[in-house]
Amino acid sequence: MRITFLGLGIMGGPMARHLGAAGHDVTVYNRTAAKAEAWVAAHGGRAAPSPAAAADGADVVLACVGADADLRAVTLGPDGAFAAMAPGSLFIDHTTVSAAIARELAEAGAARDLHVLDAPVSGGQAGAENGQLTIMCGGTAEAFAAAEPVMQAYAKRIGHMGPAGSGQLTKMVNQLCIAGVLQGLAEGLAFGARAGLDLAQVVDVISKGAAQSWQMDNRAATMADGKFDFGFAVDWMRKDLGLALDEARRLGVTLPVGALVDQFYGDVQAMGGGRQDTSSLIRRLGR
Ligand code: NAP
Repeated sequence: MRITFLGLGIMGGPMARHLGAAGHDVTVYNRTAAKAEAWVAAHGGRAAPSPAAAADGADVVLACVGADADLRAVTLGPDGAFAAMAPGSLFIDHTTVSAAIARELAEAGAARDLHVLDAPVSGGQAGAENGQLTIMCGGTAEAFAAAEPVMQAYAKRIGHMGPAGSGQLTKMVNQLCIAGVLQGLAEGLAFGARAGLDLAQVVDVISKGAAQSWQMDNRAATMADGKFDFGFAVDWMRKDLGLALDEARRLGVTLPVGALVDQFYGDVQAMGGGRQDTSSLIRRLGR
């Protein structure tokens, strides 16, 4: 298929690479053009100068950019993809954004006879590199059926969660579950270190019991070593918790731990750690 990918960041770059490796004819667009040129030099395909130019003639257009305003710019903006997409073609959004913009794009797409799927991902940089992402989708049954075989190139689990916006709502649940676990892990490790325990031994033992988590298995050792270069940025987590807190207010739900951890991440940003990964929460505790 003729596939266009918009946004070659930590996540989008490797996802686009998997689509090329699956045999698709890939065109890429990246705001910073040098990154698109480097991608083409490494993986083939072609680079286009705007989202519209990249989307012209594509069967499927995918995006993985930053936040709501960025997604709006690459889809509905002056040189956005939607105006160039052919009727009947498919738009898959892997950005983590609000449920509101997911619904807005679904409506704008339907008016142009485009299929639109909100499809945020979980699994981090390693999941994107290894093609092992979890993808939570919102949209029509037709959009999901068309998108699923394309996304198989980099997924280990794909779920259709309901109508437009449902993928983003599921991702908010995902982020809330991670935030509390990470703060608990940070406190446990900081406490253990202050108590004079060997953290490697502690983690080796308790990770075989009820304290085990993905964060413990993948981040405890590096948190103990003060290494925070694992892809999912604190700036993005604050965006995601902000989306969940906004949605919770609309729903009349309280999220006290999510709100607190959001503030803690604000501390990490103030310490200069906005681009460090989310396990850097432990820095507030003197590690
Ligand atoms: P990233 O490395 O910062 O990449 C962001 C990409 O979006 C870059 O290609 C950037 O272009 C492009 N972009 C941003 N604003 C744009 C705009 N206004 N117009 C056009 N392009 C724009 O971010 P990432 O880590 O890949 O994350 C991307 C999305 O996936 C975010 O929504 C994030 O929350 C989500 N996510 C990330 C992870 C993770 O582990 N990193 C995991 C799950 C979900 P430039 O190169 O020009 O800056």
